[in-house]
Amino acid sequence: MNLSIRWKVTIAALLALLCGFGIAGFLAARSLEQQELAQSNLILDIRTGLVAHALGPALPDAEPLPRTARLQEQVKELAARSMTRVTLVAPDGHVIADSAVSDRDLDAVENHGARPEIRQAVQTGTGTDMRISHTTGERTLYRALKLRAPNDGHPVYLRLGLPMVTLDQELETLKRNLAMAFGSAFLMAVGLSVWLTRRLTRPLSEMAHAARQLAAGNYTNHLDVESGDEVGLLADSLNRMSEQLRIKIEELTEDRSQLMAMLTSMVEGVMVLDCRGRVLQLNPALERMFGIRRDEIRGEIITTVLPHVQLTGLIKTILENRVKQEAEIVLTPGNRCLHIEASVAGCERENEACAILVFHDITELRRLEKIRKDFVANVSHELRTPLTSIKGYVEALLDGGKDDPETTTKFLSIILRQSDRLNLILEDLLELSKIESGSVMLKEEPFDLHSVIERTLSMIKPLADKKGHQLVSNVDPQLPPIVGDEGRLVQVLTNLLDNAVKYTPERGIITVSATPAADRSLGPAVDLVVSDTGMGIPETDRPRVFERFYRVDKARSRELGGTGLGLAIVRHIVEGHGGQVWVEANQPQGSRFVVRLPTRRARQAS
Ligand code: ADP
Repeated sequence: MNLSIRWKVTIAALLALLCGFGIAGFLAARSLEQQELAQSNLILDIRTGLVAHALGPALPDAEPLPRTARLQEQVKELAARSMTRVTLVAPDGHVIADSAVSDRDLDAVENHGARPEIRQAVQTGTGTDMRISHTTGERTLYRALKLRAPNDGHPVYLRLGLPMVTLDQELETLKRNLAMAFGSAFLMAVGLSVWLTRRLTRPLSEMAHAARQLAAGNYTNHLDVESGDEVGLLADSLNRMSEQLRIKIEELTEDRSQLMAMLTSMVEGVMVLDCRGRVLQLNPALERMFGIRRDEIRGEIITTVLPHVQLTGLIKTILENRVKQEAEIVLTPGNRCLHIEASVAGCERENEACAILVFHDITELRRLEKIRKDFVANVSHELRTPLTSIKGYVEALLDGGKDDPETTTKFLSIILRQSDRLNLILEDLLELSKIESGSVMLKEEPFDLHSVIERTLSMIKPLADKKGHQLVSNVDPQLPPIVGDEGRLVQVLTNLLDNAVKYTPERGIITVSATPAADRSLGPAVDLVVSDTGMGIPETDRPRVFERFYRVDKARSRELGGTGLGLAIVRHIVEGHGGQVWVEANQPQGSRFVVRLPTRRARQAS
């Protein structure tokens, strides 16, 4: 049974009290009874002496003593006076006279020779006993006395019986009174002990409650310290402990939330391992990098949940050697490139930070590095071709070619063409670099796409005419105005039309159309489409033609005077307007370049 301390104390006190009262009552009753008995013995002794004294001269001389009515009469009278039962017993035990028996029944009275008091009197002259009388059925105190018969005849035994009824009744009353007194004292003690224990244990109950609150994480509970005793000291200590705990927990929570905020906001993935390689902590960036979930991976051995050969090797090395490690790994699928810095935290026990791994996603860095390297290689290559050509023709002129005016003119015109080409490449490179670096601010002005198309078509017409191309314009008259940089969009259209003219054999059809875009993924937008009936672009090359210097057919592009930068410039300008550009196959043949421009969208940074 789970009793509170209050009830335990109360019940223990009441049990002790009950035992005390019981023992005290029992002892009191017993000593009173003994006192009463001693008094009764004394009274019986005196009365026996008196009755013997009164009866002695009245005894007849006959031997043995006969039963006479007179003797019976005398015995009854003495019994009445002494308020006892008086019996005369012959030495052989038969009863000669008995005040408690009628004359008629005297013969029927049992032999009294075996009665203890008579037996004692036979031996010593006096005898005492207390028992329930066979004759009267009452508890009786007996006193027997040997009477000397006159003339030294046979003795006769006088026995007085004092019924204990009164004494028993008195004792009964006494016990009842004692029980009542003890009962009411006990009831008072119950009330008092309940009140007292409540008073004593209330602070303890409050402290128990406060301790439970502490355990449940509520540190605001404050106990009122009323007394300066041990309980008061305990309450005071509990208050201070809870305050200290509150401060410490607040500090820890703050530290933890700051740490978690730092870990959460970090772009780098962070993982903390214990000495056995179990994951103690990891941040959201790492979850994203590896496509794992924190609650699933925490507590697991990292090498079993992320079975990556290089990573496993790195973790094994750092846990064994406890030396800072660095490595670069590539995750498949996705080809993500991660740079890992693993440092040692120093703890040697389980569940304590032993190694900290920081993962930097350097995929973009590596991609940019590759672009830069490719770009440098491409630029060098693109510049070297016209330069080699110029150098070659200059050397040829110096070697004697200049002596022939016709050769000189021919070589100089080639040198001029190659210089123009060099110039063109440099101009396009500069343009592209300006757009990429963001130093070219795109205007945001509404303009009419219709007039832009018309203007560009009229500019390109002489070139198209040279190759016998047919230029078709198909512009929706309901076209909404576009917000953007008109000049740059003219450049976009010019580049696309220039390519269409270049890469379409003679007498092709080049169509420019502008319609509201059906796809609303960019919001309200316009699709500006330049299609031709030219050689087209193989499907595998289509996504790459917008890269710098990418050409489907390098020799042909150079021959046609292309720099390989036109579509890269187009893509940058279109994306700077928040739009998209892609190329599709034109039916039945040729290419179809689609520029999707949002009509009123705010321009993105170029
Ligand atoms: P270039 O100066 O070489 O034309 P661009 O960036 O404008 O460079 O184009 C890249 C490559 O895309 C071209 O070399 C060519 O192979 C291909 N290309 C561009 N436009 C067309 C087109 N209309 N038809 C076929 N191929 C094209």
